[in-house]
Amino acid sequence: MSPATVACPTCGRELEWASAPFRPFCSERCRLIDLGAWFSEQRAIPGEAAAAPEEAPPAPELPAKPPRR
Ligand SMILES: [Zn+2]
Repeated sequence: MSPATVACPTCGRELEWASAPFRPFCSERCRLIDLGAWFSEQRAIPGEAAAAPEEAPPAPELPAKPPRR
């Protein structure tokens, strides 16, 4: 069984699946908003080779321990 109503992924408003022309969105506007968000996310992904600041602090140097016997 499929639900008679679905929630719009963009605004969360419930709509009737059978009579929704822009399903799964409630309207064309919500559909465009979702597509726009998707494309913007795609563009927002930079190359991973971008210089990323290393926030990890340098490991403190441990004092040399003399070998014990
Ligand atoms: Zn909507």
